Amino acid sequence: MGVWWFGPRRTFLRPVDSPPRLEDRSSVDLQISPLWSSADPTRPRPPVPGPASPAPLTRPLSLRLAAAARPPARHQSRPPCAWARGRELGAMWAGRVLHAALSGGPRGRRAQSALAQLRGILEEELEGIRGAGTWKSERVITSRQGPRIHVDGVSGGILNFCANNYLGLSSHPEVIQAGLQALEEFGAGLSSVRFICGTQSIHKDLEAKIAQFHQREDAILYPSCFDANAGLFEALLTPEDAVLSDELNHASIIDGIRLCKAHKYRYRHLDMADLEAKLQEAQKHRLRLVATDGAFSMDGDIAPLQEICRLASRYGALVFVDECHATGFLGATGRGTDELLGVMDQVTIINSTLGKALGGASGGYTTGPGPLVSLLRQRARPYLFSNSLPPAVIGCASKALDLLMESNAIVQSMAAKTQRFRSKMEAAGFTISGAHHPICPVMLGDARLASCMADDMLKRGIFVIGFSYPVVPKGKARIRVQISAVHSEEDIDRCVEAFVEVGRLHGALP
Ligand code: PLP
Repeated sequence: MGVWWFGPRRTFLRPVDSPPRLEDRSSVDLQISPLWSSADPTRPRPPVPGPASPAPLTRPLSLRLAAAARPPARHQSRPPCAWARGRELGAMWAGRVLHAALSGGPRGRRAQSALAQLRGILEEELEGIRGAGTWKSERVITSRQGPRIHVDGVSGGILNFCANNYLGLSSHPEVIQAGLQALEEFGAGLSSVRFICGTQSIHKDLEAKIAQFHQREDAILYPSCFDANAGLFEALLTPEDAVLSDELNHASIIDGIRLCKAHKYRYRHLDMADLEAKLQEAQKHRLRLVATDGAFSMDGDIAPLQEICRLASRYGALVFVDECHATGFLGATGRGTDELLGVMDQVTIINSTLGKALGGASGGYTTGPGPLVSLLRQRARPYLFSNSLPPAVIGCASKALDLLMESNAIVQSMAAKTQRFRSKMEAAGFTISGAHHPICPVMLGDARLASCMADDMLKRGIFVIGFSYPVVPKGKARIRVQISAVHSEEDIDRCVEAFVEVGRLHGALP
């Protein structure tokens, strides 16, 4: 919600005041759909003429928006609330400014020079990124995600070794079918956040399934795991509390922690002595929460959860693990790092994604104690103020979990292929960081070498990505290879052969 800026030819939507408090919503957030009928909400009927019905479509858009900015007629006998009045004034003012800009008046000239100034600043920023060699360009895939893809500008199919599609479920026929069925039955989307009118039975079912999968009390869905991380810390921790975070945690954990008012401690990557020292310092706070990635995506290394849980128990702390690069495939039945390391009963909170191994569409979640999930439904801002996950996404993720709970075969297939790749590459003389994880960073050291080798791999039909500073520390450039259950053994062998050829060409191998 917010003020709508409008003009005669172009329309901009932009909130210019803070959103209404939740308590105010009942008075300002009544939304009338032309298809709504009080007798039968599912049966379409023409809009009822009257002050609350949408403006006739024949009126110019600017007038319709101005009408929309006015409070509904039933409120007009009362003085309009400050927010509604602000919205109306904002709409009128925005219309005048845009009119002036388009008619070339003094305000228009000022707006144009502000735009010119902005362009200058942006160009300088962009040049800085190019100059630093950190420009990220995107290859455009013209097929489904999978082990073999087509990429715009590259002739023929290529073997894909750089997606988080660890279990190959992104294009699994049953997953796609489940998405189609949910789309058909439950529609394209909810046009609403969860707590207003955006909760369907499938959302509740998936939350229950996630909690069951992780053997936790309850779960809550978010539009992404980035949002789950952005929502958790602020909702849970107060200035009386402390959070202790691994220095190499994912950006979304770092951002989520920034948003909260708890005391912040950063311990050195996987350094348990440092974590213990920080836990001792943090004894003065009410709650202590240790936050770590389960598996770190740049190195494929795994948090020492047994040691973390032992320290947490000694110093009365809670443990939070981000399982984005573990859910679905680490551990004997794919439950994640906590299963792999035998601490499922000691990790209090898990955040993870539906956007990687679990079908790869999008969405994230928190799973953990029931009261925590209840609190998040009341307080977590990305949950309260962002749209519900679309039914097709829910359908795909739900089927992915069913497949994993029915059988262990996919998880085992991925583990065997990971082992094949790691052992063949190491036998050829390469250093592969981490252990057992399908993220297999081929360590090369030099940034240019990593980039040139990745380009030459693509010429041989193999899609891998080079990473260098600042994404990874200086001198630790690498090519990150990701194995999927749907790679065949021949695919793995072809990839290794290409690495050996290209490695020799560039002097990375003798
Ligand atoms: N946490 C980790 C460790 C990740 O790797 C990612 C994604 O790259 C996220 C969180 C964000 O997940 P999502 O894509 O669902 O927002």
